[in-house]
Amino acid sequence: MELRVDRERCIGAGMCVLTAPGVFDQDAEDGRVVPLDRIPAPEREAAVREAAEVCPSGAITIVSRD
Ligand code: SF4
Repeated sequence: MELRVDRERCIGAGMCVLTAPGVFDQDAEDGRVVPLDRIPAPEREAAVREAAEVCPSGAITIVSRD
């Protein structure tokens, strides 16, 4: 799995950080998403999929699946 985030779409809601805290963080200044791990380990994939589903702005895209 590889993920992409669109910081222009991100509205800083923070749902991704709550759902997959090791994979996403938020910028300290503007609150927008900061990807920490673009190729998450298999044990994190379920949380990443959930984060993409709950993101209110559709800013998280899963671009490949193993
Ligand atoms: S859940 Fe979506 S809108 Fe909220 S911080 Fe994460 S990427 Fe941005």
